[in-house]
Amino acid sequence: MHEIDSLYDKVRRRILLLNKAVEGSTELESLREEVDSIEQELQGTRTEQQDLELESRSLTERIRESESNLMSGELHNPRELEALQANIDSMKEHRTDLENRSVERLVMVDSLQATFEKKQAALVQAEEEWTTRKSSIESEIDQRKKEYLYLKRAREQVAEALSEENLEMYEHLRRRKNGVAVALLEDENCGACHTQVAVGILNNIRYSDELLSCPSCGRILLTEI
Ligand SMILES: [Zn+2]
Repeated sequence: MHEIDSLYDKVRRRILLLNKAVEGSTELESLREEVDSIEQELQGTRTEQQDLELESRSLTERIRESESNLMSGELHNPRELEALQANIDSMKEHRTDLENRSVERLVMVDSLQATFEKKQAALVQAEEEWTTRKSSIESEIDQRKKEYLYLKRAREQVAEALSEENLEMYEHLRRRKNGVAVALLEDENCGACHTQVAVGILNNIRYSDELLSCPSCGRILLTEI
């Protein structure tokens, strides 16, 4: 009974673990977040760069107007001319600053774009791997659930079948067979020594409450549901 109980607990714990694992991968989740945040940073930097470029263009337009005003000969007051020239100089200085910042953003965009593409490719691969892994987890869950039901029923079967007399046989077997008195019946074979059990015996046992013993090693064979 002990080995069925420990097997039953093992399968039950495995199912709990698998159920948790199938919910999602934390690695994949953090990779998704990373890709999202790089994408946002990339878009933000692109927008900043475009804004700087627009501002720089409109400043160029204003500089051009001021310069043509300066050249027009319409202004005669030296102080006004001087002020206009100073204004043009200051606008040019500002434009240089805008252009520098725009170039910095362009360099950042290039580097972010490269990082983004690399991370995204890693994400695509991780998603594919996860899909494969998930379906393998799901099929293991299916398998384990069958085992669980099987063992659950086996525990009940053994508990019911172990009358005083059988219990004695069970304990005797346990001592003889390195503590393993039961084996799972796999298809038509003993799960411990792999001896095939005659179909006639199998059929008889399926419809009775008797315990099935392996004809070769004598272990109690637990039958499929
Ligand atoms: Zn056997």
